[in-house]
This record gives sequence, structure tokens and C-alpha cells, in this order.
Amino acid sequence: MADKYDVVVIGAGPAGYVAAIRAAQLGLKTACVEKWINKQNKPALGGTCLNVGCIPSKALLESTELYHNAQHNFADLGINVGSLDVDVPKMIARKDKIVSELTGGIEMLFKANGIDWLKGSGKLLANKQVEVTAHDGSVSTVGADNVIMASGSVPIELKATPLEGDKVVDSSGALDWQAIPGTVCVIGAGIIGLELGSVWRRLGSEVVLLEALDTFLPMVDHQIAKVAARTFAKQGLDIRLNTRVMGSKVTGDKVTVTYQDKDGEHEMVVDKLIVAVGRRAATEGVIAAESQVSVDERGLIHVNEKCETNVPGVYAIGDAVRGPMLAHKGSEEGVMVAEIIAGHHAQLNYDIMPNVIYTHPEVAWVGKTEEELKEEGIDYQAGAFPFAASGRAKARGDTDGQVKILRDKKTDRMLGAHIIGPSASELLGQSVLAMEFDGTIEDIAMTIHAHPTLSEAMHEAALSADGRAIHIANKKAR
Ligand code: FAD
Ligand code: NAD
Repeated sequence: MADKYDVVVIGAGPAGYVAAIRAAQLGLKTACVEKWINKQNKPALGGTCLNVGCIPSKALLESTELYHNAQHNFADLGINVGSLDVDVPKMIARKDKIVSELTGGIEMLFKANGIDWLKGSGKLLANKQVEVTAHDGSVSTVGADNVIMASGSVPIELKATPLEGDKVVDSSGALDWQAIPGTVCVIGAGIIGLELGSVWRRLGSEVVLLEALDTFLPMVDHQIAKVAARTFAKQGLDIRLNTRVMGSKVTGDKVTVTYQDKDGEHEMVVDKLIVAVGRRAATEGVIAAESQVSVDERGLIHVNEKCETNVPGVYAIGDAVRGPMLAHKGSEEGVMVAEIIAGHHAQLNYDIMPNVIYTHPEVAWVGKTEEELKEEGIDYQAGAFPFAASGRAKARGDTDGQVKILRDKKTDRMLGAHIIGPSASELLGQSVLAMEFDGTIEDIAMTIHAHPTLSEAMHEAALSADGRAIHIANKKAR
């Protein structure tokens, strides 16, 4: 460990570790302070995303989707599997192995790039000094010309429903159950509620999601959110809006959840309760007052569009700052900041941010929703194509959903793309690219798409904006 670095990063989640790697690639002497202790009681890199977030949740979503298909859909494809068995501990162990491989991979990348991993808790002091409290309690201080704060976020806890063992859990706890609960209640029908609710529903649990808001997925284009609500209800996810949870009590093996809806107060007895009501910035204890870095009332570090804080040479990125709490958003901020520190010109286009909910079907979107365009008075036109008319979707036996694109009527520029359907997360890529290149709907319409692919749905949606889709009846052909 050196006394002085060009860059010290606090936090090695997808924001911090990417910032550290890019800074080292640019020839900056870099250290990263990370305090995470994993399930195996070992220090680990990768943050929420790799340890208890994006990756483990997707590992379980993959396993359970295959199980669900084998149980419910294989017979339609002419495959009879006889009696099916699910080995939950093995499924969880596979997820843990993926996590260890990926977090170990980051450790190797740190070594390959000459980044010092300072194991322990970092705290920013005055004059860009960082105090590091190691896991054994010893304290040291390192100095840096630049500090990047990337301490991420933690789940919001509700006072009324305190976490308790493996009965009342946050998202991390819900990734580790060793047996299938008979009944699961989820507080919050947001992204985590839907993804983890799907995991356990597919394995056979009865899943009820209690959501305080009266609108389902308010950030999603309303037409797509409606299709999502219908599809998830068909899968047996019992989503109850306008429902506020008042408290929970663990008695023996069961959890009693008290909640209120328009008909009054009720009780529900379940095997497990997941609290998934959002996340908050993890900045408490990471910034000493004398550092003078400004933080808002929700703990978010104040930054400008270049992720500079109010203190020169101190930057902040990822979930600890404004904007969506998404791994790719944090990583791109990390790259931008490292490049700015190295004297390069770098910027991020926050308007073109891909979003995905990894349910089945997946929900994926970029750019403006139809509601936002109406509100902003932009003259737009929509084009859409249902997967039911896609040859590839039919061949896969996976036809729920649609692609919808929105274009500027005057300029033909793509303003948004909204997909619910198979592999929506992968399909979204071409819309993100088209928008990043300032592409038009005509550009997509003129692009040759391989047949038969799901991506043809995007092509047809583009054509349909002009009334010239081939595989659906257009209202008005041109
Ligand atoms: P984090 O990943 O939270 O990392 C911050 C790191 O800083 C942690 O390792 C922490 O230990 C460390 N740290 C904090 N304080 C200190 C300190 N004082 N000293 C040293 N180290 C410290 N996003 C997606 O884009 N796609 C998904 O599919 C997705 N799925 C998710 C599923 C779940 C269940 C959850 C919970 C989240 C998911 N997210 C997903 C969100 C994503 O995980 C976060 O947006 C992302 O991890 C934020 O990255 P970050 O680096 O800012 O923070
Ligand atoms: P969220 O904001 O998506 O959803 C939380 C939901 O809980 C909201 O709908 C909110 O109205 C509801 N809620 C809040 N308090 C409540 C209460 N007392 N009773 C009932 N409902 C209540 O948050 P999340 O699902 O916890 O996820 C946190 C963040 O993690 C997300 O915002 C997202 O940025 C990130 N994430 C992303 C992905 C992905 O990209 N696929 C996956 C998981 C998490």
C-alpha cells in the first residue's frame, strides 16, 4: 500500500470497480477501498450487483424459468419429461458459484491492472485523505489527488416490518432460501418484488405483492405496463395496488402481515415476507463532515453532470448519486470520471438509459414513454408489433408481448422504444444504439434483419409507424 495515489475509489461495486480499472488503464496509480464480507465470510469485490443483486437474481431467474418451462410448456413442444424434481439447495449453490467466479474475476482484474485493494471501510476526511479501517480494526490513512466515492446503496428497511432471520427478509435474504416456501408476501411491486416474486412463484410458492401506489409500474409506458399486469396475473402473481402494510409479526414458522386497503385493515399469514420497498444511498459514515462534501437529505451526494462534487478532485458515482439505481449507469459514470481525471473529454447521455425488468416476459425500455411525450407536447407517432405475429416467437412457443416504438413526427428520430416479450433485454440494444446514433425510424426500417429472429419485431414496429408493416394488417398503408 502506498501513502499517496492518483486515485482512491471508495466502494468496488459496478460503479467503483469499473472506475478503478479504467483509471489504472489510463496510467493512474489507483487504490480501491472495499469492505464487503461475503457469505463465505471472505472479503469480496463486486458490490451489491455481483454479490446480492443483478447476477445472483438473474442466475435464479434463469434456473426457475427453465423449471417452469419444463413443467408447463415442454409438453406443448412435444417433450414429455415425466415427473420433475427441483433441488433448491443445488440451485442456490449454482448461483453462489457464479457469484464467486465473477467476484474472483474482478480480483484478478485488479491484480492485472496493478490496483491496490485496501480491504476495509473507507472514510473521506479533509484534503482528499481517506481513512481506512481494516477488518481487524487497524486504522491507516492514504492520500489521493482524486477521490471517487462509490459506496452504493442498501435496501430501505421499514420500521413496521423489521427483518427477522430467514422469515422477514430483504432482497439478499430472498436469494438464499433453501426450500420452497408455501406462501410468500412481498412488500412493494417494484422491480425487485417482481423479479424475486417470479423466482419463487415459478417454483410453486403462492406469491402476493402488496403495493402502496395505485398505479402498477408508473415509470413504464402505460400500455406496456397494462400488458405486464395482465401477463403477471395470469402467472399467478397476486399484485394488489393501493395497499399499505402496517406491520408484521413472526410467530413460530409463520409471519402475520397486517395491511390496509380501500376495504379497511386485514391480516395475512404467510411463510415468508420480502421487504422490497426501494434502496437508499449508503453514504452514512463514509464522508466526514470536515471533507465538506455536500449530501442531500436522502443521503445522495450532490454532483453535477460530470459527477464532480462541490469539493474539487472529489467525484461521486453510481447509486450514491442522483439518477436511476442501475449497474450500467454507475459503470458508465465510473468510466467517465476516470477519463475526466486523466484529462480526457468524457460525457454521458443520461437521456438514453436502458431499463429492464427481468421477469418473463421481460419488460425493457429506453427513452420517453407515450405519457411523457404527451405531457411535453411533442408531436409523435407510435408503431407496434405483437410477438404473436412473429415466426420466431411462435417457433419458440413464446408469443406474449409486443414491441412499441415512438418517433418524432417531424424529424422521424426515435424518441423511445418499449418492449414486453421474450429476450426484450437483448432486443432493446438496437434501439439504444439507434438513439445513441441519433437514428431515425427509417434507418431501422431500411436495416436488413435476419429471418427468423425476434429482432424482426423491431423492424416491423418501425415499418408499422408508417403503415407498411408486412406481417400485420396496417390501419393505413402508404
Ligand atoms: P454497490 O453495488 O452497492 O456497491 C457499493 C460498494 O461500496 C459495496 O461493495 C459496499 O460494500 C462498498 N462500500 C460502501 N461503503 C463503503 C465504505 N465506507 N468503505 C468501503 N467500501 C464501502 N441493476 C441493474 O442494472 N440490473 C439488474 O439486473 C439489477 N438487479 C438487481 C437485483 C437486486 C436484487 C438488487 C438489490 C439490485 C439490482 N440492481 C440491478 C441494482 C444494482 O445492483 C445497483 O444499481 C448497483 O449495484 C449500484 O452500483 P454501485 O457500485 O453504485 O453500488
Ligand atoms: P422500486 O422502487 O423499484 O420498487 C419499490 C416499490 O415499493 C415501489 O413500487 C413503491 O411504491 C413500493 N413501496 C414503498 N413503500 C411501500 C410500502 N410501505 N408498502 C407497499 N409498497 C411500498 O425498488 P426495489 O424494487 O426495491 O428496487 C430498488 C432499486 O434497485 C430499483 O429502483 C432499481 O433501480 C434497482 N434494481 C434494478 C433491477 C433491474 O435493473 N432489473 C432489478 C432490481 C433492482
